[in-house]
Amino acid sequence: MELSKRVQSVKPSATLSINARAKELKASGVEIINFGVGEPDFPTPHHIKEAAIKAINDNFTRYTPVGGIAELKDAIIRQFESDYGVSYEPGEILVSCGGKHCIYNLAQALLDDDDEVIIPAPYWVSYPDIIRLAGGRSVIVHTKEEDGFKLRPEKLEEAITPRTKLLILNSPSNPTGSVYTRGELEPLVEIIVKHRIYVLTDDIYNKIIFDDADWVSILHVNPDVKEYALILNGVSKTYSMTGWRIGYMAGPGPIISACTKIQSQSTSNPNSIAQMAAVAALNGPQDDVERMVSAFAKRRQYFVERLEQVKFVTFYPPQGAFYIFPNFSAYYGKKYNGQIIANSLDLTSYLMEEARIALVPGSAFGDDRYLRFSFATSMTIIEKGMDKLEAALNRLL
Ligand code: GLU
Repeated sequence: MELSKRVQSVKPSATLSINARAKELKASGVEIINFGVGEPDFPTPHHIKEAAIKAINDNFTRYTPVGGIAELKDAIIRQFESDYGVSYEPGEILVSCGGKHCIYNLAQALLDDDDEVIIPAPYWVSYPDIIRLAGGRSVIVHTKEEDGFKLRPEKLEEAITPRTKLLILNSPSNPTGSVYTRGELEPLVEIIVKHRIYVLTDDIYNKIIFDDADWVSILHVNPDVKEYALILNGVSKTYSMTGWRIGYMAGPGPIISACTKIQSQSTSNPNSIAQMAAVAALNGPQDDVERMVSAFAKRRQYFVERLEQVKFVTFYPPQGAFYIFPNFSAYYGKKYNGQIIANSLDLTSYLMEEARIALVPGSAFGDDRYLRFSFATSMTIIEKGMDKLEAALNRLL
């Protein structure tokens, strides 16, 4: 049997595969430090779970409108008004089965064969494959650690061609944790408006911000960019609701209704119970969010201090999200048991097999010099993991 060229052209999600492997090892009794997946380790807040239980007991268990229930769209509109200072209509909002699904719908609705999508690297693993599945072409623009991994305006200008349809920005970034400032966004927004290209801002981590970093949206910089902007968010990371699969996107009405049409021919509505839970998340008390963010901030600080002690490693201190992306390339070329560690995949395999630490290789994010650590795990595990990491690195010759 020959599978389609389309499916043969993509890889499975590296983050999810590594998580599956870590869970498999754990289930077989192996103690694993999981710095792999980006999934908050906190339980979903109690009042959100209660709302879901109530939805079940109220028999809110049937099809809903494809693009989401009115109550959830209203909650999203209020949230976007307060976060972005911009108002949207219900017809400009799509609720999907997670943020990834919104991006998938968007790619399917927007891209024709060989349409180009500009993606700054390092990028989240799934963007290029979602683009490829829609027939589009990713144009990867590399950024530098010394620029905080942020896209420079001249690089964006250079990458634009008559086929450019979309730019993807992600701040705070997965995998680097970098956050764009207003000054950095201003020239990018100017270019977007000048060339009339669409821009997807993946803001899924915008509530997880550290120290005095200020999260700024392209809509704050220039509200006129709204006609080109697709704004993505969801409840997974902010409310520790990864498994519930609720993401949402705001944007121009015709694009949102095209995405809704695609969704009507694939999943139909997102889970009705999870939608009710998301209403409670957005409308309810936000103190659990503050508690989780302050825990992430402590872990981030600890990681930064420990990594400063690791020989030959450089990194950009994250200002948001729960990832850190250090450069380990000084270890490439070293040997263990006669085997050469040649790249990020070899180093993560070595650390998985020899130190039982799960990490995601930088190659999955478009830069092989780096490894991604997720600190969405407890302080005890982080301390233990960093001890093991240092010991394992010292064993390399
Ligand atoms: N976004 C998270 C990560 O990067 C969850 C897994 C995924 O969908 O990639 O680890």
